[in-house]
Amino acid sequence: MPGDPLDLIIVGAGPVGLYGLYTARMRKASAVVLDSLPEPGGQVTVLYPSKWIYDVAGFPQVLGRDLIKALVDQAAPEPGQIRCSERAVDLFPSEDGLFHVTTEKASYVARAVILTVGIGAFAPRRLRVPGAQELEGHGVHYRVDNPEDLRDRRVLVVGGGDSALDWALAVEPLARSLTLIHMLEEFEAHEDSVEKLGASRARILTPWELTEVMDDGTGRVERARIRRRGTGEDEILEVDDILIFIGQVANLGSVKEWGVGVKGNSIPVDTRMQTVLPGVYAAGDVAAYDGKIDLIATGFGEVATAVNNAMTRVRPGAKAAPGHSTKRGF
Ligand SMILES: Cc1cc2nc3c(=O)[nH]c(=O)nc-3n(C[C@H](O)[C@H](O)[C@H](O)COP(=O)(O)OP(=O)(O)OC[C@H]3O[C@@H](n4cnc5c(N)ncnc54)[C@H](O)[C@@H]3O)c2cc1C
Repeated sequence: MPGDPLDLIIVGAGPVGLYGLYTARMRKASAVVLDSLPEPGGQVTVLYPSKWIYDVAGFPQVLGRDLIKALVDQAAPEPGQIRCSERAVDLFPSEDGLFHVTTEKASYVARAVILTVGIGAFAPRRLRVPGAQELEGHGVHYRVDNPEDLRDRRVLVVGGGDSALDWALAVEPLARSLTLIHMLEEFEAHEDSVEKLGASRARILTPWELTEVMDDGTGRVERARIRRRGTGEDEILEVDDILIFIGQVANLGSVKEWGVGVKGNSIPVDTRMQTVLPGVYAAGDVAAYDGKIDLIATGFGEVATAVNNAMTRVRPGAKAAPGHSTKRGF
């Protein structure tokens, strides 16, 4: 619908943004959800997909990744409605009362905006060792776009969490050789992945760390120096690609410049979850008020409040109260 403003733009596809999309669809609102990450789920997906969660209403216990899958299933997004790998970099209102949100890839216009940005946009944690920064994109990678690019290559994976092991398992059958090093003795990943990797061709070294990346004289990775922690024992590996998965860091970044009244790392809201910029609402971890508790359960309630109140602006004359959900609304 080029030219037609959306009803809502939801920035952040963590658990709260995903439930916001469901609420929007219940109100028959046109909406997109934007997220900087390549997949939805926010902190749950990035930090604890394999952890049990015991305090989400209706689930005596649920694995992080299963909760996110259930939220996506419940929202039943149309193709393209959840737009991953799209960090929102700007938000501004225009005189006609609409809001413009620009991402690294596109621009969107809507009648109201819901900010469910949590603790901020996630980005891979960079490894600060000699050569790593200079050779990023030239053999040092923090994400894999196409595993086929690693076919027949000598690959070093750095990290011991789910991302490191999942990628090691995905790349091992393609690579000429694969070494995985982790700075701790034990992995912090799903047991099944640890077992599968142990049974593969991969060379696994713990507790080892990467200490230097060396180039081939033309600006491409050629060797990596690794060290067994606490011993000073060094080894030089001949490698073509180094995949580094040592966690994520989150930053509110440009949200602070959007005029929504950011204080510290939060956005104060009123009882309708509206920020100081009328028409822009916040919910979930980023929303602040007296007595706030950062939990998935509280975020669900907040985003239902935000979306339903936003509907009074989106459709003048509409009630905030949605009525009760006796059947699927879409
Ligand atoms: C280790 C750990 C365990 C936890 N365990 C529990 C638990 O058991 N029970 C519980 O209730 N809570 C738990 N929590 C807290 C819970 O994860 C958070 O309350 C919840 O994730 C908040 O959801 P959210 O959607 O508000 O934000 P987030 O999950 O942080 O999601 C925000 C999303 O917004 C995206 N984003 C941010 N800025 C932008 C931008 N500019 N453009 C595009 N996208 C953007 C981010 O990439 C992210 O995906 C735990 C937290 C941690 C760290």
